[in-house]
Amino acid sequence: MNNSDELFKDLAEGLDVVALLQDLCGVQEIYENGDELGHSCKLPFGMHKNGDKNPSASLNKKTLLFNCFTCGGGSIFWLVENILDLTSNQAIARVKEYSTGSIVDYEKFIDKLKENLSKSAPKGKIDIPVYSENIISSWIQETEYMDSRGVSREVQKEMKIGLREIGEEWVYDGKNSQKLNVPRIIIPHIFNKQLVGWQGRKLTADPRPPKYKNSKNFPKAWSLYNYDNLDQNEELIVVESPMSVLKLKSLGISNVVSTFGASVSNYQVHLIRQFQDVCIWMDGDSAGRKASSYLVNCLSKTNMVTILEEDNEDPASVGDPLDYLINQRKNMLEWNLSLKELKV
Ligand SMILES: [Zn+2]
Repeated sequence: MNNSDELFKDLAEGLDVVALLQDLCGVQEIYENGDELGHSCKLPFGMHKNGDKNPSASLNKKTLLFNCFTCGGGSIFWLVENILDLTSNQAIARVKEYSTGSIVDYEKFIDKLKENLSKSAPKGKIDIPVYSENIISSWIQETEYMDSRGVSREVQKEMKIGLREIGEEWVYDGKNSQKLNVPRIIIPHIFNKQLVGWQGRKLTADPRPPKYKNSKNFPKAWSLYNYDNLDQNEELIVVESPMSVLKLKSLGISNVVSTFGASVSNYQVHLIRQFQDVCIWMDGDSAGRKASSYLVNCLSKTNMVTILEEDNEDPASVGDPLDYLINQRKNMLEWNLSLKELKV
């Protein structure tokens, strides 16, 4: 057993999971079955309209993994984040309140957990939520908003894009917290054939809610958007945002993935490396340029790499992405030279 396994065992044994389920999550009755604590599901996705009389949810005392037959599952932190609408750090703090043992190294444990998640393929599946597709099925629909972003109806359908009209969110205006209804376009993320989360793009002009909001514990670091639909023998195009993927797909460029932003994890590099020919097309800002440099460094010895990059442009903003893709790409030498010119 390695160090983090031992820390984890300490944490699990020193945690009063029954009190946590009852006081924090609002569970009433708990049915113990070995390590599994069966109970009625309290997740807020609206999947248990008449309550959950025959309990479909359970939490494992040893692995601290939660599962609901209807909603899906994730870690105990993910459960608390979802039920109480907390950030990951807030959830960690709340879970810690139920730790009865002398877990001196709790922070170290969490750090270790995060480190493992961002660097390598998930091992113990500790923080990977898997949702039932029932949750997104009521949201799926073609929208004029996505039309206006250049995403074809065909692609909207294929990628199960939808609209969540009712979704309450806490916003903070510097003084008070307030609950608002924030309609969002929903972009589901299906990875290895499982729904592992979604991104929501707000449709209101209200500046307070964030433009994008991810489902809890969104598995950004160990997945790529559109990864399930690729042809390994074709060139892979790597972009930052799912919206760029959707736009390029609508133009018939379908071997494309997004890294969900400019920070690229080792595991994402590992996935990208499986493609012989890679075209890197990050956003034309300093974060995007850094990401391009990082990817070029990681891939240049093993893969055929070309780079597309222009100030203030990204795949969703250039006028004719198809023409741009064919005519503007640089090989590594040309790109390194252009970087030097930038610095002069
Ligand atoms: Zn449920």
